[in-house]
Amino acid sequence: MGRVLLGAVADDFTGATDLASTLVKAGMRTVQLLGVPRAGMPVPDVDAVIVALKSRSNPAGEAVSMSRAALEWLRAAGVRQFYFKYCSTFDSTAKGNIGPVADALCEALGADFTVFNPSFPTNKRTVYQGYLFVGDVLLSESSMRHHPLTPMTDPSLVRVLGSQTPHKVGLVPTSVVMRGAEAVKEHFGELRRNGVRHAILDSLSDDHLFTLGEACADLALVTGGSGMAMGLPRNFMKQGLLVPGQTITLPAISGHAVVLAGSCSAATQAQVAHMKSSHDAFEVDPIAIAQGRNVVTEALEWAAPRLSDRPILLYSTATPEAVANIQERLGREHAGTIVEETLSQIAKGLVARGARRIIVAGGETSGAIVSALGVDGLMIGREIDPGVPWTASLGEPRLALALKSGNFGTTDFFTKAFDVYG
Ligand code: ADP
Repeated sequence: MGRVLLGAVADDFTGATDLASTLVKAGMRTVQLLGVPRAGMPVPDVDAVIVALKSRSNPAGEAVSMSRAALEWLRAAGVRQFYFKYCSTFDSTAKGNIGPVADALCEALGADFTVFNPSFPTNKRTVYQGYLFVGDVLLSESSMRHHPLTPMTDPSLVRVLGSQTPHKVGLVPTSVVMRGAEAVKEHFGELRRNGVRHAILDSLSDDHLFTLGEACADLALVTGGSGMAMGLPRNFMKQGLLVPGQTITLPAISGHAVVLAGSCSAATQAQVAHMKSSHDAFEVDPIAIAQGRNVVTEALEWAAPRLSDRPILLYSTATPEAVANIQERLGREHAGTIVEETLSQIAKGLVARGARRIIVAGGETSGAIVSALGVDGLMIGREIDPGVPWTASLGEPRLALALKSGNFGTTDFFTKAFDVYG
């Protein structure tokens, strides 16, 4: 039997962090790996490992091969139970990728049955009679119907999944879930006897998720959003494999503190303004970059004498009007790319100068920076604010990283975060 209890394949980076935070809160020591791990990468000594892919909107074939490669690595790591994590709005392209990836994982594991549950009641995603609701409305009436990459126009998960797989799709309705884990297991048996391989699970509350988690203790593969994973750690505790009440502490990391902000969201704008009023700050100007000025060198020369325990801020954050103006002059994609590249090079230079405690604001910006820094994986610590945990990078040099999606965090996030690391 392997040491890693739960091994997950996640179809995007922030979704993986969301799952990681859920597991940490439930008492599992969790590492998030960035991309399919290289062969021979040492298996971290933790309870759960999540491989974060960027496969949600890729062609289905690509998503399948990335997910299978991740599964093979996890399997070699001795994982006991597998999880496939997707979005709580079941984000899918016309051809998948949830169905094809789940089919491939089942096949690789020799599993003839698995479950699907994107629900996340805390965030108002619920499933009733197989229909996915976002707040008070059906998925197809929510803003997801206009999503640029994965528009969701059918709220019936049985139908959506049915169009993505050759296998029979069934339902475990709320009426069964309300009768408890044994009733759910019996229903699984009935569905199996009827040739159903994929069961959509209803759930309206966290209680339902705990019931379902208990019912899935013996499945090789469970699939869902982060909510569906809530009930799984208890199974390992019951089996005596996981110590209840475990506290997760990250290794102590000392070194200069910096904040890099590439998000232009309303929350990040307020956070930048708040930090600027009391800390040194440097503005990264996309127009100067486009004109060929060496903004990386300028930023690093500015930062060098200021690097210390007291955080400094480097930001490209701008108002919507300023961003619109810049995008008009440089093109939306080009502006985004040159800013991400510049912030990534600045981050590398800062680490070379001893920065070890780093907050990054912006989803895309975070992805660009961690990949430029060559970070393979993150040990997940406690949450600073909902959805944003402190993490410690694996490998050398050890970095304390808080990767904040643009709109997350309170106004004083950038300064308070450094007080709560651990
Ligand atoms: P969020 O999490 O808020 O969506 P992201 O980092 O994902 O933040 O996206 C912000 C995008 O905006 C990035 O591609 C970034 O490079 C780009 N960007 C940042 N600052 C500016 C700016 N001043 N003008 C134009 N684009 C910018």
